[in-house]
Amino acid sequence: MALNRDPHVLVVGGSDSSGGAGIARDIETISSIGLRSCVAVTAVTVQTHQSVTAVHHIQPSLVADQMRAALRANRVSAIKIGMLSTGRVIAAVATVLHENPRIPAVLDPVLASSSGRQLLEPGAIGVLKRDLMPLCRLVTPNLVELAVLTGSDLALDDDDALRQGRRLLADGPQALLIKGGHAEGPRSTDMLLSRDREPVRFDMPRLAGSMRGTGCMLASAIAAHLAGSKPLEDSVCEGKRFVFEKLLRCIEREPGSGA
Ligand code: PLP
Repeated sequence: MALNRDPHVLVVGGSDSSGGAGIARDIETISSIGLRSCVAVTAVTVQTHQSVTAVHHIQPSLVADQMRAALRANRVSAIKIGMLSTGRVIAAVATVLHENPRIPAVLDPVLASSSGRQLLEPGAIGVLKRDLMPLCRLVTPNLVELAVLTGSDLALDDDDALRQGRRLLADGPQALLIKGGHAEGPRSTDMLLSRDREPVRFDMPRLAGSMRGTGCMLASAIAAHLAGSKPLEDSVCEGKRFVFEKLLRCIEREPGSGA
């Protein structure tokens, strides 16, 4: 078969041996939305649900080669990007995105694990903003990532987060989804910012529990819906609903938390 014509999402990211985050979560999410995945691995990590004990970077040319082969083999309708590890890997991914400008890319700007291990070298943040973000249809930072990416203190409220978001948007992504999941209060609010319109808020009740890999799931679910040609706002809405329902099921199964 020369080309698999089923719509695929190309997942570019790190593997997580625990299955809690990274490409395993991405593929699981995309498949439960009914699409197929193809992959380009950027890093191999050794993890349990409590800690990251090792990270092995993949050579940048090997990342680009995996992406090009996946794109040759399949009809890729969206690209989801997660852990990138190094500035050189970011540059390699950006080169392949330049070659495929019509495929929407969703970037989850993974900087660290929830256990505190750095998953992107600190010097690579400039490359991420300069070389990769302008090529992305959507970037999905949480409040901590937003603060690091804009060199600010953690946003104190929604207005502060919007100010930081507008600054990041000026650096080039077409749209930004600021995730408020780590904030406090009875509601969890995400905000979608784009250049040409007012911010759109997505509001959900805050659930009493947490789950690993929710950032991976959200960006993958949005990419899967974009791949099905849904408009951005609808894709974000569907992605939010997907993660909310997963989290709810996880809490029902394992009250308090879950992996
Ligand atoms: N490991 C990999 C490979 C990831 O891509 C991510 C997040 O995207 C993480 C770990 C962090 O996940 P968590 O915050 O659930 O620990």
